[in-house]
Amino acid sequence: MSSSEEIKELKSSLSITAVAKRLGLNVERGHFRCLFPERHAHGDRTPSVSINEAKGYFRCFVCNDVKGDVIELVRLSLGMSFPEAIKWLRGDTPSIVRDMQKIPVQKKFQEEKKSEEHPKFFKEKILFDFLSLLVPIPPNHQVGWWLANRRIYKPIWDKVLLRLLYDYDHVSRALLLKHSLEDLQFVGLFNKQGYLRYGRHPLIIPYVDEMHRPFFFQARAIDKNIVPKELNFQGTIPFPYNKEALDGKHGIIYLCEGAIDTLTLLGHGFNAVGIPGSNSFKPEWVSLFNNKKVILCLDNDSAGRAGEERISALLKEAGLETRSFGLLPEGKDINAWLASR
Ligand SMILES: [Zn+2]
Repeated sequence: MSSSEEIKELKSSLSITAVAKRLGLNVERGHFRCLFPERHAHGDRTPSVSINEAKGYFRCFVCNDVKGDVIELVRLSLGMSFPEAIKWLRGDTPSIVRDMQKIPVQKKFQEEKKSEEHPKFFKEKILFDFLSLLVPIPPNHQVGWWLANRRIYKPIWDKVLLRLLYDYDHVSRALLLKHSLEDLQFVGLFNKQGYLRYGRHPLIIPYVDEMHRPFFFQARAIDKNIVPKELNFQGTIPFPYNKEALDGKHGIIYLCEGAIDTLTLLGHGFNAVGIPGSNSFKPEWVSLFNNKKVILCLDNDSAGRAGEERISALLKEAGLETRSFGLLPEGKDINAWLASR
C-alpha cells in the first residue's frame, strides 16, 4: 500500500498528457476523445475531454463521471481499481513508465527511438495502443447480450478487461496515425489489403499479466456464421488466459479450452484458466501451476482428449495432481454443458 504522501509524490512526478498518450489516447491541443464514445453523438468525433496539464486534471464536457487526476485516468482507461492503477503507474517495465516520466525532451526522444528498434517492445506498444482504443462493453450492446446469454455477466467483463471494437473506422485511423501500415501488418493487426482485421470479430479478449498489462489477445465473432470464430494476435502466447488465477497458493484450478469457457467457469465461481486451443499448452507453463490441483476441462472431442493426455503427462511429471473433469457429453464443451444444466 502507498501512503498519501507517496501518492502525491507519484502524481507530481508524472505528466498527465504523457500518461494519456501512453494509454493510447490521441491527445491534440490538450483534448482527447471521451473514453465512452458511445455516450456521445457521432462517437465523440470532436474530442470532448480536456486536459489541464498544470493541474494534472482531465474532464469530459458531456460525461459527469469522466474526470479526475492521472490515477483516475488510468483507472477509467484500463478498468482498474485504485491500487491497481497506482501499481500500473509505478510499473517498472520500460514499455509502461519510461516515456511517462518528466524527462528532458531530447533524452525522451532518443530513448523512444532506441526502444522502438527492439522488436518485443515495438510489438507490445502496438498491442497496447490497439487495446487502448477499444471501449468497455456496454451492457445493452449485442456483445453484452451475447455474453449474458452464456451467463458471463458484467462483473466478470470488468474483472478481465473485456473490450469491444466499437468504432472500427476510428480505431483504424487512430492506429494508422501512430504507426506505419507495414508495422501494423507485421504484427498482424492489419491484413494484406491494408485493413484492420476483426471487423467481424468485435469482442476483444486480452491476455493480461498480474499487473493487467496486455501481452496477447483473441478476437471473437459473435455471429455464429463467421468462420473462424476466433482470431489470435500474431506471435507466441505468453501465458494461459486469466494468468492472475495462477497465484501459487494451494487450491483447485480448472483448465479450459478457450477464453469463453474460462469466463463461464469464473462466472459460476470456479477458479479457471484457459488455453487458446487443445494443443497450445506449453511445457514451460507447468511451473505456473505450482500448488494447484488441475482439473482438465478441454472439449470432449478427439483433439480435446489428446490435449488432456498431453497436459496431464506434463503436470504429473512435475508432481502436480491432475484429473479430467469427465462430465462432458461427447462433442460438448463446458459452456454447452453448464448451459444445459
Ligand atoms: Zn464523455
